[in-house]
Amino acid sequence: MPITPTDKIWMNGELVPWDEARIHVLTHTLHYGTGVFEGIRAYETDRGPAVFRLTDHIERLFNSARIMLMEIPYTVDEIVQAVKETVRSTGLPSCYIRPLAIYGYGEMGLNTLPCKVDVSIACWPWGAYLGDDAVTKGVRMKVSSWTRHDHNTMPPLAKTTGNYVNSSLAKVEALKAGYDEAIMLNPEGLVSECTGENIFAARNGILVTPPLAAGALPGITQDSVTTIAHDHGFEVSVDNLSRSDLYICEEMFVCGTAAEVSAVNSVDDRVIPCPGPMTEVIAREYAHAVRGQVDKYKEWCEPV
Ligand code: PMP
Repeated sequence: MPITPTDKIWMNGELVPWDEARIHVLTHTLHYGTGVFEGIRAYETDRGPAVFRLTDHIERLFNSARIMLMEIPYTVDEIVQAVKETVRSTGLPSCYIRPLAIYGYGEMGLNTLPCKVDVSIACWPWGAYLGDDAVTKGVRMKVSSWTRHDHNTMPPLAKTTGNYVNSSLAKVEALKAGYDEAIMLNPEGLVSECTGENIFAARNGILVTPPLAAGALPGITQDSVTTIAHDHGFEVSVDNLSRSDLYICEEMFVCGTAAEVSAVNSVDDRVIPCPGPMTEVIAREYAHAVRGQVDKYKEWCEPV
């Protein structure tokens, strides 16, 4: 999806003009995929633009860095404030936000320990990732021929830039085959997640989502959706799913910051009732929650 530039990008402590946010071709992370990043959204609320679960996202960024033994030269709170400053500088009522911490220019070779860490934060307007009608019409999913890397290959709990080689291979394969998104199975053949979303599938009226051990990222939308589901009296179980569980499920949706809550209408051409009744309720409530319109979830919205 094309990027619409905004005015400024935060780089190592200051806001620089969009076109000047450049790096050297010998930047370490560009060669080895060792960066860590986040994908966050700010929404328009009656208190002005507010970033959805900003602190949770920045804590996950720091956890990704810990897994990589990367020392981000700022505190969580400093990056939280920097995100707010960057969003404010755009003047946008809502936007997508991309914080990135990379090993910078100055060292080569696989040892990251001597490398300096550069941090940037960019924002731009970004629509629904899986399409505007993903909630109502649903998306077509394909089980990927690519296997999700396991915990001892590329740590799936860390949102590293390199991990997305696996996701990109799967995404492009699915798109070229005429599907909207790919489902990743782990080396044991169990469902882990999509290329950029977590999965929920209903079995016997219970919403099942795969455990982190299955190779999924700890999704913040997954966590929000679980709370919303409980608050609506829907049972949620964290349990393994096989591809056949998906083929015969009663309803299914995928969720992530970019995709929000998107209904699924088929998996490998097995039709799934769509949008399912729980999916509809959860998608609607999530859309209200992120905009600060639900009192009990207001603390999730962090005004800039
Ligand atoms: N899994 C992967 C692989 C992702 O890239 C994302 C998006 N960050 C998610 C799940 C969903 O995470 P979140 O809800 O925190 O955006």
